Amino acid sequence: MYYEGPIYRPPSEADSLLVQATVGCPHNKCSFCMVYKKGPRFHIRSTSEIIADLEEAARLTGGRVKSVFFPAGNSMAMPTRDLARISSRARELFPNVERITVYASMPSILSHGPDGLKELKDAGLSRLHVGLETGDGETLKLIKKGVLPREQIQAGQMALEAGFNLSLYVLAGIAGKERSLKAAAETAFVLNEINRAGLFTVRIRTLVPKINTLLLHQIKKGSFKLLNAHEVLLELQYLLENVTGPFDLFSDHYTNYLSLNGKMPKDRKPLLAQIETALKRPLCTFRGDFIGTQ
Ligand code: SF4
Repeated sequence: MYYEGPIYRPPSEADSLLVQATVGCPHNKCSFCMVYKKGPRFHIRSTSEIIADLEEAARLTGGRVKSVFFPAGNSMAMPTRDLARISSRARELFPNVERITVYASMPSILSHGPDGLKELKDAGLSRLHVGLETGDGETLKLIKKGVLPREQIQAGQMALEAGFNLSLYVLAGIAGKERSLKAAAETAFVLNEINRAGLFTVRIRTLVPKINTLLLHQIKKGSFKLLNAHEVLLELQYLLENVTGPFDLFSDHYTNYLSLNGKMPKDRKPLLAQIETALKRPLCTFRGDFIGTQ
């Protein structure tokens, strides 16, 4: 099995077989992200090499694999035909596989178009993990996410219409202190628009500044102000008050101050009550600020 550069996978893919399809991230500009800042440069592995790794994994496991994840940062950037080919080969080699998944950016989803997405879904790719971060256009520009809110909506809807299971990662605190609530309202708007096309999963993360990032530099200079735990919770409160749903909500990450899990809108009331209770706790009872190194 061949692995090159940082290999990240979402916590929900902890038990998945990891077969590397791409190396690095084709965008690699987000101000808060350190993962590939020191390389390697983005490239796509040859389809025959990826398939050779899948075949080796099938030999080693006897084909008993329940889920497959194709790292690295955005394997949705592969040409449609190649991603479809490795997905269908994975389905053949692992007959009981329940899902095949990748990290995807919204622009890379759009680049396949409705027909390409259908081809990928038919080939067996089933779940897309997308870093939405925020739906606020001004913040998206500041953090250099490389996408507009209308593209997020279009891509999200297109993925759902093609039948994909979509996990959207919202990064609480990324808009900074002054824009926190405004950005939460814009994020709620984008989620509500995507929701018109179907059900998805929202996964909350909380901003932790990372080494070797532009954002950490901005914090040190004073041009970006990190939210404290109460301010993050107020932002999430505002977000949950303004989303329509339906979607599943998870806070499956160590960065979060509170574990908010449920179904929206059914669980809105208990989730908001959980936030209200947490807001009564003194700030010193939450985790402290730290600089992330991974
Ligand atoms: S957050 Fe995702 S898209 Fe942005 S640079 Fe990091 S890996 Fe690439």
